Amino acid sequence: MNTLKQKVGELNLKYKNLKAEEIIKEAYQIFGARVNFASSLGEEDQVITDMIAKVAPKIEIFTLDTGRLFQETYELIAKTQKRYPIMFKIYYPDTKSVEVMVHTKGINLFYESIENRKLCCGIRKVEPLQRALKDVDAWISGIRRDQAVTRGTVETFEWDENNQKIKINPLAYWTLDQVHKYIKEHNVDVNPLHAKGFISIGCASCTRAVKPGEDIRAGRWWWESPEQKECGLHNNPNRKNMGQGSRVKDQG
Ligand code: SF4
Repeated sequence: MNTLKQKVGELNLKYKNLKAEEIIKEAYQIFGARVNFASSLGEEDQVITDMIAKVAPKIEIFTLDTGRLFQETYELIAKTQKRYPIMFKIYYPDTKSVEVMVHTKGINLFYESIENRKLCCGIRKVEPLQRALKDVDAWISGIRRDQAVTRGTVETFEWDENNQKIKINPLAYWTLDQVHKYIKEHNVDVNPLHAKGFISIGCASCTRAVKPGEDIRAGRWWWESPEQKECGLHNNPNRKNMGQGSRVKDQG
């Protein structure tokens, strides 16, 4: 068995009950430069960026620029880079692959089928993520249990089968209220679109605001069913779905 994979159970036993900041600090102690953090600039990710800057500023933070993000997201990237003295890298999709996809399937192919949508997410997000993770053993993410039906059993440390890495989710057990409390107390910068009803923010073409009372995940790929709503960044074949009753909020 992969030795990294074997570590996951041990890490959960040892560190699962630590505070999020302590988990981040331990992650750097354990993995050093071989851990990084994938931020999509969502509220949870901005909380983690703030924590990294305070407790483990050598952890590299990266984001994926799909080329279809909101202008507000680009402004938040600039603001975040300016505020924190940390390494904040941006990865882009392979130009040739985007060109071939758009030439053969159209600029807005994702509305036409789940297959097309997954192709677009694969080229614009998954492949750049794989490049970003090439030289690390572990990566940090901001996903939480109550964000999505696909995330209800997320653990603090889990095995990322797709990328063959350890995935660290310091906010796995946080509620949305805890996220908002941290943002307020630490004056964390967040995307202004959240105040306009955009709870989960991804690409502009695939994200819309949700109405009060609507499922939080309803704003992402709204033309698909809840079980389909992962872009490939946070898929985990070992994780069980929790059914459609779960409330969701995600950034991936
Ligand atoms: S969210 Fe939409 S535009 Fe962005 S990569 Fe996925 S399908 Fe493409």
